[in-house]
Amino acid sequence: MRQIAHKLATSLSVEGTRFGDVFDPNSGQIQARVALGDQAVLDAAVAAAQAAQPGWAATNPQRRARVMFNFKALVEKNMDELAHLLSSEHGKVIADARGDIQRGLDVIEFCCGIPHALKGEYTQGAGPGIDVYSMRQPLGIGAGITPFNFPAMIPMWMFGVAVAVGNAFILKPSERDPSVPVRLAELFQEAGGPEGILQVVHGDKEMVDAILDHPAISAVSFVGSSDIAHYVYSRGVAAGKRVQAMGGAKNHGIVMPDADLDQVVNDLSGAAFGSAGERCMALPVVVPVGDKTANALREKLIPAIAALRVGVSTDNDAHYGPVVNAAHKQRVENWIQTGIDEGAELVVDGRGFKLQGHEEGFFIGPSLFDYVKPTMESYKEEIFGPVLQIVRANDFEEALRLPSEHQYGNGVAIFTRNGHAAREFAGRVNVGMVGINVPIPVPVAYHSFGGWKRSAFGDINQHGMEGVRFWTKTKTITQRWPDGSPDGSNAFVIPTMG
Ligand code: NAD
Repeated sequence: MRQIAHKLATSLSVEGTRFGDVFDPNSGQIQARVALGDQAVLDAAVAAAQAAQPGWAATNPQRRARVMFNFKALVEKNMDELAHLLSSEHGKVIADARGDIQRGLDVIEFCCGIPHALKGEYTQGAGPGIDVYSMRQPLGIGAGITPFNFPAMIPMWMFGVAVAVGNAFILKPSERDPSVPVRLAELFQEAGGPEGILQVVHGDKEMVDAILDHPAISAVSFVGSSDIAHYVYSRGVAAGKRVQAMGGAKNHGIVMPDADLDQVVNDLSGAAFGSAGERCMALPVVVPVGDKTANALREKLIPAIAALRVGVSTDNDAHYGPVVNAAHKQRVENWIQTGIDEGAELVVDGRGFKLQGHEEGFFIGPSLFDYVKPTMESYKEEIFGPVLQIVRANDFEEALRLPSEHQYGNGVAIFTRNGHAAREFAGRVNVGMVGINVPIPVPVAYHSFGGWKRSAFGDINQHGMEGVRFWTKTKTITQRWPDGSPDGSNAFVIPTMG
């Protein structure tokens, strides 16, 4: 059976005793074993990072940027292989796997301009003969802990910026689909990244705890489910680290009575069911305003859902593939049962779906609920599967309150032709990322990504200039070059510029 090892600096090799199963979600079979690391593995990675980081930080930013350019070119050259590998462990269709990689590459493109982003601030003559300037310096060693659902994009969100600004980075990817992160680290080294600057350690809670407690790791970026995000945030901060921890989501799409319903249904199909709903920016809740809108929307959604093709992830005609593993399939199906038990109307039932020839694969058909209420557990919690819930609202204010009062605040969308309503909504909604007639408002790489409330702990977003701020610390220098003549200042009084 294929073994997936840690990707440490090449001069190091560490044997482990614990392993995790990596499935092929299309067949339901185990396809590889991944090493689950421990303190010794992390210590080896940290030692290599400590040895390499000062030299990398001292490398001028243009040279570091050239490594990012080379890395981008190598990932593009290997796009096919990476997309197939990603799809075979995650289960998302190939075109979507390419999108996962491309959205990560967008961040690498941003990092190719890192010399510009790292320029500091300067004030000449802040006082008599005094200049003040600031510089952004790397933190040292950073770590990233990533979820299964974007095994290329999210690692690149983190390590792209972290290494471009001069840090060493240790990535602990999801143990469910760990192969692409390892390939990315190999390609980074092939691109000219020094040994020890980007390493991959695999593992579960044991490795995560070792990272959170390691005194030589200065900052941790986490993306995953909210309870674990909160745990990582609390433990990392208690250990004196800088931590950003992105959590789960339950994104709403508000449909105003004037919206173009055909466009909405088209957008919703992809946003709710694409990647089998396993996206933190999926749109699993639709809020039509007024019963007339709700009834018309429901009528159009039913045939659109019936037309969805669920298939193996290599099927070019499939809209979505299997979910990641059997436990997750069971979890999604349990939520569907909970929704029924709570009194919502299950309009389309995706349970029990079998794909001929792949009966053991982790496939779930699309499901649609209507008359979901805000008091229901199946509304309050994240399902993370191909399940769309209709929550009917009477008016704009009620529709605005639903996402604003929900425990999660990652993304939200409004569909309308009314610019005033859209503007009002964007300004008032209590959610971090807003789409106006855009169902999945993931910001482009040079802006930054981050939700609110239980969708993110910590206060700095991923990538863009927020990422640069997260992975650097500011140093501010106040300088003067006296010419030797007495300046009459009183050293016992705090200096003022008055
Ligand atoms: P997860 O929380 O199960 O795992 C995330 C990471 O935490 C993995 O690396 C995993 O090994 C580690 N981990 C798991 N259990 C742990 C424990 N008990 N202690 C310490 N570490 C542990 O998440 P997942 O199932 O891989 O990913 C799906 C979740 O991620 C969803 O909730 C989704 O909304 C969220 N997500 C959020 C964003 C965002 O930007 N807000 C983006 C993508 C995914």
